[in-house]
Amino acid sequence: MDCDKCGASAVMHAAYSGLHLCERHFLRSVEKRVKRRIREDALIDNRTTPDDPETWVIGLSGGKDSVVLTELLYDTFAEDPRIELVALTIHEGIEGYRDASVDACVELTDGMELPHEVVSYADEFDLEMDSVAESDPENMAPCAYCGVFRRDILSRYAEQFGADKLLTGHNLDDEAQTALMNVLEGDIKQIAKHFDASLGPFPDRPTGSTDEPFVPRAKPLRDIPEKEVALYAHLKELPVHMAECPHASEAYRGEIQELLLGLESNHPGTRHSIMAGYEEIAHVVADQYDTDEQPALQDCERCGSPTTGDICRKCQLVESIHAA
Ligand code: SF4
Repeated sequence: MDCDKCGASAVMHAAYSGLHLCERHFLRSVEKRVKRRIREDALIDNRTTPDDPETWVIGLSGGKDSVVLTELLYDTFAEDPRIELVALTIHEGIEGYRDASVDACVELTDGMELPHEVVSYADEFDLEMDSVAESDPENMAPCAYCGVFRRDILSRYAEQFGADKLLTGHNLDDEAQTALMNVLEGDIKQIAKHFDASLGPFPDRPTGSTDEPFVPRAKPLRDIPEKEVALYAHLKELPVHMAECPHASEAYRGEIQELLLGLESNHPGTRHSIMAGYEEIAHVVADQYDTDEQPALQDCERCGSPTTGDICRKCQLVESIHAA
């Protein structure tokens, strides 16, 4: 097939748009969509100046999504004095998995003028995910522990770096899966949180105000299908670690992923339409939750992180793991 833009040999066909694109036009199309997302989500505050730049912390795992995100942000903003980028990599202590992905992160950032911090659960919490998965004192899936520890590190380091935003590599498939899971589980609170936790499609919303204890999140790849992220990484020959974590335990997400792939194949554009509708729903639901009384936050007695109880979930889990 030929590229619909220039007639060169096509490297991909996007069924949802009907377009065949050559390498040059495909790469350009991904870059354009990411820049448009950054613009539409108003990621750059219009009060930002070179004298008072914003710091964006990128969650860099070494997987294709975060590697592509880092590459695209670096290409776009390395010369922009309004934005300072920092890459943050978390080492969970998973043998045969995380060392290789940290290597990919180091290889990527080596050629970039970009601060890159690698933080480990071993140093932060004196534990490793392999032993947590084995002892499992709370009878939970490994990802349930890991998610709490990861969020804690991301929040604390974002604060330490003076981050104005925390950017992650979630792609369109990730977002559509999460949206569908929340709808199928009837989880209205999560739908509202989806909106509150991210820089929205509604930049007028006062997310991340100075009273907000959490750094606003952004997902600039959320319009790009997973396969296109993988193709972008491949064509640009980026160092990517492709293996899956041996503790990955989200079986339900796997089912939703299969379901969505089938729907997308029979009805191209399904993921885009799910997200368009979901964001409308999230807007309405988030407004509803705005009027509800939210539990007050206080400082954790152990670590000082914001929490609704006396001791935050991370400190509870660390104590329970060390006592096991
Ligand atoms: Fe952690 Fe689960 Fe991700 Fe593995 S798959 S790194 S255990 S959250």
